[in-house]
Amino acid sequence: MSDSLFTKIIQRELDAEFVYEDDRVVAFHDIAPQAPVHILIVPRKQIPMLDDLNEEDEALMGHMVYVASKLARTLKLDHGYRLVMNCNHQGGQTVFHIHMHLLGGRQMQWPPG
Ligand code: AMP
Repeated sequence: MSDSLFTKIIQRELDAEFVYEDDRVVAFHDIAPQAPVHILIVPRKQIPMLDDLNEEDEALMGHMVYVASKLARTLKLDHGYRLVMNCNHQGGQTVFHIHMHLLGGRQMQWPPG
């Protein structure tokens, strides 16, 4: 598998504005923010999309949610926020290395477009 865009960011071959990292995930600002706060939580493991998850990835997915909730607290998103994971083309996925969007700082609408 060739390196994804996000693997290149994780390996510091491409620039990004990091806000968090640990041994399993990194988080950085989205280049085209859709809300006042728009951060991507990305596993170091390059998994193309949610369809590719294995049972062994279960804890990693939970860790991504936990990190997102910690970041939301740090960023004082006290009135709420949204976590989004897009899967494949119809789900709106454009970068094929799974990631979670943390969006906040404005009123969200439902249903999403
Ligand atoms: P998705 O459409 O769910 O696959 O989300 C991919 C996200 O990656 C989009 O919100 C893009 O704006 C964002 N993105 C693409 N390239 C970069 C980059 N170089 N640095 C940070 N975010 C990026």
